[in-house]
Amino acid sequence: MLIVADSNSIDILAIAAHRDDVEQTCGGTLLRMNSLGLRTGILDLTRGEAGTRGSADERAAEAAEAGRILRVDVREALDIPDGRVENTYDNRIKIAQVLRRLRPRVVILPYWTGRHPDHYTASTLGYEACFVAGLAKVETGTAPHRPFKIVYASLYADVRPSFVVDISEHIERRFSALMAYRSQYANQGAGGGLFVPEEEIR
Ligand SMILES: [Zn+2]
Repeated sequence: MLIVADSNSIDILAIAAHRDDVEQTCGGTLLRMNSLGLRTGILDLTRGEAGTRGSADERAAEAAEAGRILRVDVREALDIPDGRVENTYDNRIKIAQVLRRLRPRVVILPYWTGRHPDHYTASTLGYEACFVAGLAKVETGTAPHRPFKIVYASLYADVRPSFVVDISEHIERRFSALMAYRSQYANQGAGGGLFVPEEEIR
């Protein structure tokens, strides 16, 4: 079913802690939804200044390129500190403002358990932001909006998914989007013992 929306709104918004998270968790799903005629977007909560590899500026350029490859209609980043994603009221409001502007029908969040605190915190923070965004009496200057559905991408957690999305037709493009993050995935000295070698990522 094609969902008709006004020109500024999108159908599906993926929210994640770090630039390159969405490429790992649900980039293929966004591609498939785009191929069905739906409008997609990505909201990165941080800008990647604390990562082992690469600077925030490098990651901004890489994120823009990856978003182009994933054919998203919108990609934005908030200014929440990298490595310090916290479920605070201020952060919920920052996300709620984006939700009210983009008015997604579906939001994709990271699953609520994982190794990296930013990942599992982004899950509860994103959920609570969706709730706050729908509260009529929380004033942000734009009309309230609550997504119809929240789904969780389970890459970081060892759980049995309740459904999967077949992205077979999009796997090459999805892989290209991940590899757009040259600062993260190209072989280099920094983080050599931590990152998977480039030739093994696929
Ligand atoms: Zn991450």
